This record gives sequence, structure tokens and C-alpha cells, in this order.
Amino acid sequence: MAADTVLIVGGGPAGLEAARGVADLGKRALLVEARSQLGGTPYSSSYATLTPDLQDTEEAMSGLLNDVLNHPLVDLRLGTRVIQSTGQQGDFDITLEKEDGTTSQEKVGAVIIATGFQHFDPGRETQMYGYYEYDDVITLVDAEKMMKQGKIVRPSTGEAPEKVAFIQCVGSRDRQIGNKYCSKVCCGIASKQSIEIKRMLPNSKVFIFYIDMRMYGFWEDQIYWKAQEEYKVNYIRGIVTEVIRKGDKLLIKGEDTTMGRPMEVQMDMVILSVGMEPSKGTVNMSQVFSIPREEHGFLATVGGPLDTVSTPVPGIFVAGAAAGPKDLEDSISMGGAAAMKSVALLSRLQRVTVG
Ligand SMILES: Cc1cc2nc3c(=O)[nH]c(=O)nc-3n(C[C@H](O)[C@H](O)[C@H](O)COP(=O)(O)OP(=O)(O)OC[C@H]3O[C@@H](n4cnc5c(N)ncnc54)[C@H](O)[C@@H]3O)c2cc1C
Ligand code: SF4
Repeated sequence: MAADTVLIVGGGPAGLEAARGVADLGKRALLVEARSQLGGTPYSSSYATLTPDLQDTEEAMSGLLNDVLNHPLVDLRLGTRVIQSTGQQGDFDITLEKEDGTTSQEKVGAVIIATGFQHFDPGRETQMYGYYEYDDVITLVDAEKMMKQGKIVRPSTGEAPEKVAFIQCVGSRDRQIGNKYCSKVCCGIASKQSIEIKRMLPNSKVFIFYIDMRMYGFWEDQIYWKAQEEYKVNYIRGIVTEVIRKGDKLLIKGEDTTMGRPMEVQMDMVILSVGMEPSKGTVNMSQVFSIPREEHGFLATVGGPLDTVSTPVPGIFVAGAAAGPKDLEDSISMGGAAAMKSVALLSRLQRVTVG
């Protein structure tokens, strides 16, 4: 008889929704999270607010977290990793390891991998933006942390910036470094942050340098036009090739591609719109569970657009940014779909054994 438990690896938005779904559908959800806290990257990277309504992150996620924490069928293991898996769908033998090195064994019928992404490191050689050289060059993630503390200041002086520039597509859509994909959320996040900066510092000037803005669905209306029309954010089509220091300012060099001419503009602060790469945990899970990775390094799926959660390994599903750049909506939808498919699989296998 197939084991009656679904293992969910990763307690971010996708894994939380998967755990809630599995438990609500009547199966035991064994939720394993490597960190000591649930909530995934929005918590560990201290996101202040979420798109599209700028709702406080913790407030937005509290319902989901409480459902998981209070569900009698969710068995939560924090500070724990999966180090080995043997067996097959319906009957996996899983070895878990806690931070203190102690191990334990679990039998599970299906697995959902929701180990997410990591932010691109903008200090990589090919990036000419001075992230590790200049204090006033920060990332979207650094900006979220500042906003969480209710301020936006130049790290070099502690003073409010007068001119702030976002540079889009840092580490994404870059064939030279091998990231040949769009990270999907950064145009929306930069526009959301530009609104927050204008709310906090109404006299500041905010610029977004982009190759082309990729806002999809309602974000176009809810964030992009709002930033441009209501908050007077300046969108400039251009390619930034370099950021250097000039006195106590930053000089952005590149090309204004609308006007077709070189561009040099001075800023007080630069925010790099870093993209998503598979997390170390995602790469590690591909090894532990022998799940192939697709050409961009994320976990492969087999169903194309009609089944976004089944991996090539029977009984193993994926949800959220472990499968590629995803926003919260995508991640939550995949968590629900993976829960449904894994519970359906267990029910099918159990019927076959009983019959
Ligand atoms: C700067 C920035 C701001 C963003 N803001 C928004 C926004 O406002 N709105 C929006 O829709 N999207 C936003 N996003 C995207 C959002 O962060 C992702 O959609 C979401 O976090 C993906 O959820 P996930 O659960 O798949 O992965 P994650 O949030 O990355 O969670 C993965 C979890 O798995 C755990 N894990 C990793 N490896 C292991 C392992 N081996 N064992 C056990 N656990 C493991 C991690 O500790 C983590 O808790 C933003 C992204 C960026 C870069
Ligand atoms: S979402 Fe925007 S900034 Fe991010 S990679 Fe795509 S086009 Fe570039």
C-alpha cells in the first residue's frame, strides 16, 4: 500500500500552499524547511511590501502561514534538509538531516520540491555596475530591506537621495553570462519600489532604465501606469554599460536607445534589478532526487503549459521558482496544482493496491 504522506521540501509561498493543499485534501503533509523560519524568500530577504497593492508582506502572508502552522495534518520540520531518497512513487524512503547532524527516516508516497530561487549576484565579473565598490549602488533586495525599516537613504551618507536610478535586467536576458531568460518580476518590483520611493520622498526624481518594460496582465495598469502617471516616475529606454563614481555622485554611462545617442547621467543612488537563479537547494534537490534540470538550470517539467508541476521522475512534482522565474501568483498556483496531483497519485496507487 502506498505511503499516505506527501513530502514537501521548502517552506516558501509555493511549499506553504502545497502543504496546506495536501493537508486540506486529507493526507499528511511532511513539510521540510532548511531555515529556522517559514515564509521563504519574502521573509528571509525582508520584503517590505508586495505587488500589486503594496500590502505589508507579513500581513499578506499571515493567513497562509497560520493555516499551515495550525493544521493537524501538517508535520513541520524546520532546520532540516533531505539528504537521501531511494525507492519509487508510492514508496520513497527519505533520509532527513537536522542542523545538529541527527538523521531520521520517513516513508512518503510523493514529493513536492519547492526550494525556490536565489537572487543574481551583481558583483559577478561581467557586471560593470560597481555593486561591491560603491555603497550607493544597491539591489532591489537591499532596497526592500531599507523600506522595511521605513526609510530610503544613501548608504554612504544616511541622507535621502534626490535622484535615484533603477537599472533593469541585471543578470537576466544576458547571453554572455548564460542567463538567457527574463526573470519576469523585476520590472514590476522596480516600478512598485519607485512608487514607494516617491511616496516617502515626494521631491525625489526616480528613473528606470530599461531594455523594454515587461509588465504582464493587470500589473501594466496597477503598477506601471500608476508609477508613470500618478507618481511621475521617468522611464528611459536605454542600455547602461557602466556605473562610476564622480565626486560624491554616481555617473551612469550607456546609450539612450530611443534617441540613439550616448547617455551620461548623475545619480545619488542606483538600484540594480537583479534577477532570479535556481537556489542552491534547488540544485541540490535535483541531485538527491535525480530530477533533470532544464537548459536554464531550473528543475525540468514534462507537461509543457498544460502540466506545470510534473517532473520527469514519477511521483515527484515541483512548485514555484524552483521551476523557473515565478511571481507569487504563479508560485501559489503551482503549489495548489502540485498538492492536487500528488494527492490524486496517492489515491490512485492506494486504489490499485486495495483492488
Ligand atoms: C527583490 C524581489 C522582490 C519580489 N517581490 C515580489 C512581489 O512583490 N510580488 C510577487 O508576486 N513576487 C515578488 N517576488 C518574487 C517572489 O519572491 C517569488 O515568486 C517567491 O518567493 C517564490 O516562492 P517559492 O516558494 O517558489 O520560493 P522561495 O520564496 O525562494 O522559497 C523557497 C524555500 O525553500 C527553502 N529551501 C531551499 N533549499 C532547501 C532545502 N534543500 N531543503 C529545505 N528547504 C529548502 C528556502 O529556505 C525557502 O524557504 C520578488 C522577487 C524579488 C527578487
Ligand atoms: S522582468 Fe524586466 S527587468 Fe526583469 S529580466 Fe524581465 S525585462 Fe528584465
